Amino acid sequence: MSVSAEDFDLVRRQVREFVRDKVVPREIEIMREDRIPDDLRAAAADMGLFGYAIPAEWGGLGLDLTQDVELAMELGYTTLSLRSMFGTNNGIAGQVLVGFGTDAQKSRWLERIAAGDVVASFALTEPGAGSNPAGLRTRARRDGDSWVIDGRKQFITNAPIADLFVVFARTSEPQPKNPGIAVFLVPAATPGLTVGPKDAKMGQEGAWTADVLLDNVRVPADALVGGDEAAGYRAAMTSLARGRVHIAALAVGTAQRALDESVAYATTNTQGGTPIGEFQLVQAMLADQQTGVLAGRAMVRQAAQAYVTGEDRRIAPSAAKLFCTEMVGTVADLAVQVHGGAGYMRDIPVERIYRDVRLLRLYEGTSEIQRLIIGGGLVRQATSGS
Ligand SMILES: Cc1cc2nc3c(=O)[nH]c(=O)nc-3n(C[C@H](O)[C@H](O)[C@H](O)COP(=O)(O)OP(=O)(O)OC[C@H]3O[C@@H](n4cnc5c(N)ncnc54)[C@H](O)[C@@H]3O)c2cc1C
Repeated sequence: MSVSAEDFDLVRRQVREFVRDKVVPREIEIMREDRIPDDLRAAAADMGLFGYAIPAEWGGLGLDLTQDVELAMELGYTTLSLRSMFGTNNGIAGQVLVGFGTDAQKSRWLERIAAGDVVASFALTEPGAGSNPAGLRTRARRDGDSWVIDGRKQFITNAPIADLFVVFARTSEPQPKNPGIAVFLVPAATPGLTVGPKDAKMGQEGAWTADVLLDNVRVPADALVGGDEAAGYRAAMTSLARGRVHIAALAVGTAQRALDESVAYATTNTQGGTPIGEFQLVQAMLADQQTGVLAGRAMVRQAAQAYVTGEDRRIAPSAAKLFCTEMVGTVADLAVQVHGGAGYMRDIPVERIYRDVRLLRLYEGTSEIQRLIIGGGLVRQATSGS
């Protein structure tokens, strides 16, 4: 059950005010200190942001994807590290539990995830297994009433602050129709699990990633998500497809911010006494930015609708992510250009945005992988229909 339009309108307004009045003025502090201040974290938790996409019966706000993307467009307006703080709880990690967990697993974890008392991380990527998770080398072997997991994960968002890892591991050799990947719930405090040092990243300061090492990590049999080894790969793919529409919406929100910064700069800064916004070549850059934002917003809304109705859960999410994340890259680049030399300076929002959005084309499936999903999907549809 999704939230009523009136209730959602209130949520969206509250989030918009929070983002624009409370977070935007602190973006430089977040960037310099590489952390989200505790008071902003607490305010986000109070608003239910750690569980906006978790069903209400498990303590979340229960937004459906059409509402999720509207919220993401608001959240994208400020540093993307804010969204990252609760992104794994609502998205890639939380949705594995929502979609595939047993009732016992849901009741043990979901309410605390939705409240922000537990931070959940999604641990799929490994050296040599990023774009193609079928190449996973982390192994889980059954030993009596337990599973024993060994392997190494990399670039795991929120790993340094996670309480729970959703860990993908191989339980059998890949077969043509079964990649042999299961998913386990591993509390961060489990002996043998260690988190590496925080990665030094290009951007998104305040959002942390790290390696996760699993050395003889023993978890009980009921840590296997859904109680079914075959659930793992499906859970990863389903969670990522939904996440792609969300990432596309974030991109649109950030593109809107880059555009607003560009218009503000162009109308208040002069060359030779003329506001640069009067130059038609600068207006052309604003025009291209605006066109990208409008096209992206329309596409995100349509893809979210098609996802919710079940009409398209594969091609449209990938197409939206591909278009919007490439679009925001262009829009951010133009924003730096509109700002001239100032656009290259730290503390100018578009400099941060330029770095922050680069990630969107890489994670949850690179642009190349989205093209493979779209193109492959179209060809499969055509050949299976003939
Ligand atoms: C900041 C950050 C946060 C992240 N958070 C998480 C997280 O929380 N959990 C998690 O599990 N992972 C996370 N990741 C990992 C991310 O999802 C992967 O980095 C991404 O999927 C790409 O995988 P890779 O790095 O192994 O690159 P590769 O797969 O090696 O890709 C390198 C290049 O090869 C191309 N390529 C690869 N395969 C093909 C192919 N078949 N055809 C054509 N081109 C191809 C790619 O498009 C890319 O251009 C994160 C990454 C970063 C940088």
